[in-house]
Amino acid sequence: MSVINLERLSEYVEVPERARLLLEKPEKEMSLRLSVRTGPDQMLITDVFVVYYNTARGAAKGGIRMAPDVSLEETRRLAELMVWKTALTHIPFGGGKSGICLDPDQLDSFQKSVVMQEYVHILKEDLLAGAYIPAPDMGTGPREMAIIFGELHIPQVATGKPPSVGGLPGREEATGRGVYTCARLGAEQLLKKPLAELSVAIQGFGNVATHSALFLAGAGARVVAVSGRRGGLYNSQRIDVPQTIHTYFAQGKSFDGLPGDAISNEELLTLPVDILIPAAAGGVITEEVAGRLRCRLIVEGANDPVTAEADQVIAEAGIADVPDILASAGGVIASYIEWRDAKSGSLTSEAEVYEFIDQIAERGFEEVKATAEAKGVDWRTASHLLALNEVLTSMRERAWI
Ligand code: NAD
Repeated sequence: MSVINLERLSEYVEVPERARLLLEKPEKEMSLRLSVRTGPDQMLITDVFVVYYNTARGAAKGGIRMAPDVSLEETRRLAELMVWKTALTHIPFGGGKSGICLDPDQLDSFQKSVVMQEYVHILKEDLLAGAYIPAPDMGTGPREMAIIFGELHIPQVATGKPPSVGGLPGREEATGRGVYTCARLGAEQLLKKPLAELSVAIQGFGNVATHSALFLAGAGARVVAVSGRRGGLYNSQRIDVPQTIHTYFAQGKSFDGLPGDAISNEELLTLPVDILIPAAAGGVITEEVAGRLRCRLIVEGANDPVTAEADQVIAEAGIADVPDILASAGGVIASYIEWRDAKSGSLTSEAEVYEFIDQIAERGFEEVKATAEAKGVDWRTASHLLALNEVLTSMRERAWI
């Protein structure tokens, strides 16, 4: 099923038949077999999925997800999301994604390195041509991007590299920065209170979640819950975010011994908090979970955390929801700067990166808010309408439609 509902959006914007045909399926999708030697008698063999959903606005851009259960269908959906995310934020890229079917927690660093080297080998032509530009997603990070660069020696082939290997200062924090800025705007404009007076629960404790938590805590927000894959921590007073990050990773991803109560990932979603930030897996806020939500504002740090059925329940409950293609766009915004710097040789500082993310998030927030009010639709529909318009314009200008 597509991320956007073209039929519904056609009520508000004219979607020519040719555009419909081009957007209902990806431009290109690959199901590849990766096999790599990891020892004298050991081979690792698995599936890799690569999808370029639409490139009307530029090269296919999107992260590499490494997860044991990633499927072609999930990769396709995530690639489509990137089309709308780049369009809504006016970043000149199209949408793509990769999925590597492996559990990152079960691989040692040598195995992960050879898997990434082989990933480059099987996708070399496209990477060299700049047709697809990967970045980190769940299960991959700066180190994996450094390996991609190391195989090809061209800095713009991947973004999200460590700053010491041609990466951008602030890229690692960038998605969290965008989540924080959207939460701040939502607090001030929708809940009419500063962040310092509000409580926040964050699902996840990886890249997006930890940096969102640090920015929010830094602004005085009361972060009361966080969670990893095996469950989370709830402290109705306040979680000490830097201390919790330090202890959690020092203990091999465990919240044991930290002040607060153990909670499940699902319990976290229905806590009585002002702001809920899903920043881990997709599809976690189902229709059933949505009916039990006790937050006032959702800021979608994860890709695709809310199901289509849940959207309606959330809207009816009067809970504000800043959609993923806006709230989690900080990463691709910074990736664009990294790619541009790699091509031009210029350097951008961390402060400039944050300023650029904040400006784009603020503009996106205003545009989505104004469209939602003008058309009388929810924020997800408004964001899809704006993004679709951008893509249709590019298609027209390129004589695709
Ligand atoms: P990560 O691998 O750094 O961290 C993922 C976190 O989610 C970990 O805490 C992990 O324990 C938890 N998790 C994984 N599977 C889970 C499950 N089934 N249930 C509950 N928790 C689970 O990944 P990340 O880069 O922080 O990505 C998190 C989300 O943000 C994903 O939806 C990703 O697509 C999205 N996102 C990431 C970026 C980026 O720049 N990294 C950008 C935009 C959106």
